[in-house]
Amino acid sequence: MSPLENPARAAGLPQTGRSATELLGELARLRDRDLPVRGGNVTAYVYDTGRAEVHDAAARAHLEMLEVNCLDPTAFPSIVALERQLVGAVAERLGGDAATPGIFTSGGTESIMLAVKAARDARPARADRLEVVAPATAHPAFAKAVHYLGMELVSVPVDPVTFRADPAATAAALTPRTALVVASAPSYPHGVIDPVADLAALAADAGVPCHVDACVGGWVLPWLRENGQDVPPFDLSVPGVTSISCDLHKYGYAPKGASVVLFADEGMRRRAYFASAGWPGYPVINTTVQSSRSAGPLGAAWATFQALGAEGYRALAADAMRATEQLVAGVAEIPGLRVLGEPDAPLVAIASDDPGLCVFTLADEARLRGWFFQVQLSSGDSPANLHMTLTGVSGTRAGDLLSVLRESAVAARASGPPDVPAELVDALAGLDLDAIDDAGFAGLLASVGVDLGGAGDPEMAVVNTILDALPPATREALLVRFLAVLYSPHLPE
Ligand SMILES: *Cc1c(COP(=O)(O)O)cnc(C)c1O
Repeated sequence: MSPLENPARAAGLPQTGRSATELLGELARLRDRDLPVRGGNVTAYVYDTGRAEVHDAAARAHLEMLEVNCLDPTAFPSIVALERQLVGAVAERLGGDAATPGIFTSGGTESIMLAVKAARDARPARADRLEVVAPATAHPAFAKAVHYLGMELVSVPVDPVTFRADPAATAAALTPRTALVVASAPSYPHGVIDPVADLAALAADAGVPCHVDACVGGWVLPWLRENGQDVPPFDLSVPGVTSISCDLHKYGYAPKGASVVLFADEGMRRRAYFASAGWPGYPVINTTVQSSRSAGPLGAAWATFQALGAEGYRALAADAMRATEQLVAGVAEIPGLRVLGEPDAPLVAIASDDPGLCVFTLADEARLRGWFFQVQLSSGDSPANLHMTLTGVSGTRAGDLLSVLRESAVAARASGPPDVPAELVDALAGLDLDAIDDAGFAGLLASVGVDLGGAGDPEMAVVNTILDALPPATREALLVRFLAVLYSPHLPE
């Protein structure tokens, strides 16, 4: 019997259609092992207002716009109206006004890709590769953008204590090939704002554009400032800043697929666009990397803005920041743990200064207690740590979060760091990955105890400890192989 005729085969296309009720039941079962997207126990990836009616408005607007295609704004003028409203609202809070040129995109990576493309295309073509100069704490979306756009990334070390970008080191990294200078407001790893005014000024002096990556901070910092917090200037109002990205699917609390990139100048926005009319088909006009694209995320982001309003965002920012202050103060009381840098936004990195307390083991212990803490590997002067993105719903959860951190730290110290033999790390570092196929790599993972098909909470401390001990290029090669195995047929479903 071929797999197509085998009714026992769970995956794939059924011979006859199934009812929506049955399908939704199956989706619910498949999601059983997912982390929860609401409630605040998952301190990364998801942003929860704690207000069901807001998420409900977004879901209904998403459905309403689901089948509208952003491919042709002349066919579906609703998308132009929604995008102009959203971009205008973001610009008004980020140093521009209703006339500031911008683009609604699918996420931070795409916003950054378009800003880098605009900067590249603003420069005459040269024989050697153009460079993007970014602090070492800048998001990997810049590495991805230069990789896709045929440019190079120049990564500049940051201050080893504050983790903020170093203007002098940045100035020293500028060359005639520099096409863009990057600042983060704040950086994702430590939640600290780079000295945007200094970086933008030195870019302007060199005649180079400056992009502010406010993907994570762009829709929380303005509200923190309105709430009275001292937030240094970071947006389009800063001389020399030529573009800024702001994700609506982070602190905008919109469902995924929503970000905005703003440009100080309309010419830069045009360079982000793409048109192609030299084929026998329809003329292609794209504002983004994607071409055919659902207007669902646009409708949902618009609805979230309308459902919350400025008052809603101010309250959510205050809740998230209050929880952050409680967390930072509470961590100082937990033996062996410390916060890296001084976060300017609701993002906190927690490291261990006790060799007997492994943060990766702590994360596994927290997972057993129903919490998910995101692991950040050591890099430069930043030691391995746990990242917490606090959101509106965290406002009432700081006490619970601190209790689980405290308990998990005690448990992690009791069990000690995972036993990873140095020979294993050396063997992995020296492995000829090209000689191993996906099935072979799956076997290798199983031999070090990685149970990808298993039920229950995955124990990741061994894997994280191994990755942490390897140089970035080896980490990346192993992670690509891991991803391939995860999606390969070599595993049980
Ligand atoms: C999340 C993030 C990005 C990338 O955004 P995606 O929406 O995941 O593509 C870029 N920069 C910063 C600072 C971020 O926090």
